[in-house]
Amino acid sequence: MARVYLDWNATAPLRPEAREAMIAVMDAVGNPSSVHGEGREAKSILETARSDIGELLGSERADIVFAGSATEAIAMAIPESGSALGAKIDHDAVYAHLRDDVTLGVDQHGRYDTDFEAFPEDCQMVCLQSANSETGIMQDTLGIAPKIWASANKPTILVDAVQAIAKTGLRVDKMGGDYVIASPHKFGGPKGVGVLYLKPGLDTRRLYAGGGQEEGRRAGTENLVGVAGAGAAAKAAKQDRDNGVWEAVQELRDWLEAELLSNASDVVLFGQETVRIPNTSAFGVAGWKGETQVMQMDLAGYAISAGSACSSGKVKQSRVISAMGYGADLAQSTIRVSIGPNTTKSELEGFVQSWTKAYRNYKAKAA
Ligand code: PLP
Repeated sequence: MARVYLDWNATAPLRPEAREAMIAVMDAVGNPSSVHGEGREAKSILETARSDIGELLGSERADIVFAGSATEAIAMAIPESGSALGAKIDHDAVYAHLRDDVTLGVDQHGRYDTDFEAFPEDCQMVCLQSANSETGIMQDTLGIAPKIWASANKPTILVDAVQAIAKTGLRVDKMGGDYVIASPHKFGGPKGVGVLYLKPGLDTRRLYAGGGQEEGRRAGTENLVGVAGAGAAAKAAKQDRDNGVWEAVQELRDWLEAELLSNASDVVLFGQETVRIPNTSAFGVAGWKGETQVMQMDLAGYAISAGSACSSGKVKQSRVISAMGYGADLAQSTIRVSIGPNTTKSELEGFVQSWTKAYRNYKAKAA
């Protein structure tokens, strides 16, 4: 039986354009830092990719730094001093850096409910999330940003836009971030490339000493093949976005949710009443472990995820769902279906059938 991939928020399938670009660049012999012809050719590949990423993000090429992952790009942006503030809904890549004494609260819809007016004196950065990887819930970061900039100690703002870039019309001027993070493997580029946008005049943390690559911000010879793939993916993703392909994705997602609700009276859909990215559906049935659902669906041929997909095989209680005020029985039950432009209605019909069968079995056993 053909496998059905419904885990696009973990990583999206590689776009053919990205594959072709990478294969072509594998034979580029030069190092982008070398001054000879081969080096200049490699440099031009790097800069073309930077322009294509810039076009997708709506930024100038010069404001983009390539890193080895979004996780690395985040670590480069967050001050070393341990003075960054964020929320329990943040992805581990951000959350691991946050001070734990003060966190931004969220309401039951997963939206920030902080007034964003006063921060501790030593707070140098506020981390905001554009869209949540587990629930797809979006935040109005552009509306919040002026309040943060107007606060007494004027912290900078990092916007983790990893899940929103390419799936929505958001560009850097509509996000309010001083630093904005993107991850090309979420929109059809290769894994292992991260993107950091920073406003002119700002700087980054040097994670390691070495050469002067990326304007001295990220030492080490660039991953030219990966970056070329990322650039090609950005170009194709921008075209998709401009052609409105995500509207059809949203229709499919909404259809899926309506089916789930009609088949399972006690299914809880998270964030259904708020603005979300178009491809994500997170839901749970109190008491039915997400881990079990993921395994059952995997056996039936469907790749989905439970809790945070990036937690390498560990399925734990979802910090995001708990932060929204739900109890452990739901936070442990959350699964996520995340789809993309290649997902078909018949694939989702198959998923609904398999999931509903497993749900009825669970209910029959639990009764
Ligand atoms: N931020 C968010 C919201 C994510 O969803 C992810 C990955 O799932 C990351 C950051 C980390 O991205 P990367 O895998 O490129 O390090």
